[in-house]
Amino acid sequence: MCAFLSTHGKKIKDMASESSKERTFVIIKPDGVQRSLIGEVIKRFERVGLKLVGLRFEVPEAGKIEEHYTLDPKWKENVGTKAIESYKKKGQQPPSEDPIEIGNLVVERLKKYMTSGPVVLMAWQGAHSVELIRKLVGGTEPRSSDVGTIRGDYVLDSYMMADTDDRAIRNLIHASGSVEEATQELALWFGEEELVNYKLVQEGILYDVNLDGILE
Ligand code: ADP
Ligand code: MG
Repeated sequence: MCAFLSTHGKKIKDMASESSKERTFVIIKPDGVQRSLIGEVIKRFERVGLKLVGLRFEVPEAGKIEEHYTLDPKWKENVGTKAIESYKKKGQQPPSEDPIEIGNLVVERLKKYMTSGPVVLMAWQGAHSVELIRKLVGGTEPRSSDVGTIRGDYVLDSYMMADTDDRAIRNLIHASGSVEEATQELALWFGEEELVNYKLVQEGILYDVNLDGILE
């Protein structure tokens, strides 16, 4: 089989240019804005080669936050399971053994947190944008997220502190966890007319197959 054909017969060249159109959704949360990290966050996404295609600044409504976090019917269970695992890994007792109960509690905490001040809503585009931005953002709990990630570098919050004070974990950023989640979240937060299709000059270097047009 031709080296440029994938198993489904689609040209890899076509797939590469298609994947440069992958989009993801990001929120710089109220604590990220208050910590003056807007520029730092945008810089980290720009420097890997991703392209900003949508941008808005506003104080979100509580109903919209609830909608956002319940787009995925499994989210409550997942968020609860993650919290329980984190406690058990540290040899501690979680506040509840029921993941859904924790999930319900977290939604209420998030409604308070995410409406406490202005946020920056962004759409980013580029190859592997969902995966790359999650990598740059880091794990949910800043206490254990990797050094070098935004959450690991700029904040120190933990499940323990959040539960003690009955509040959401303050971790600066939201980023879609999968391509499917990104599609749903972008549709929730942005009108199609707010997302701009345009070329960046640097895309010639990032995606062009032959790199022609450099030499004179
Ligand atoms: P992520 O933002 O890393 O995708 P989740 O989707 O699991 O994480 O959770 C959404 C947000 O809810 C987190 O970013 C965090 O702000 C908050 N959160 C998650 N779990 C808890 C918890 N057990 N207690 C308080 N807040 C939480
Ligand atoms: Mg998530």
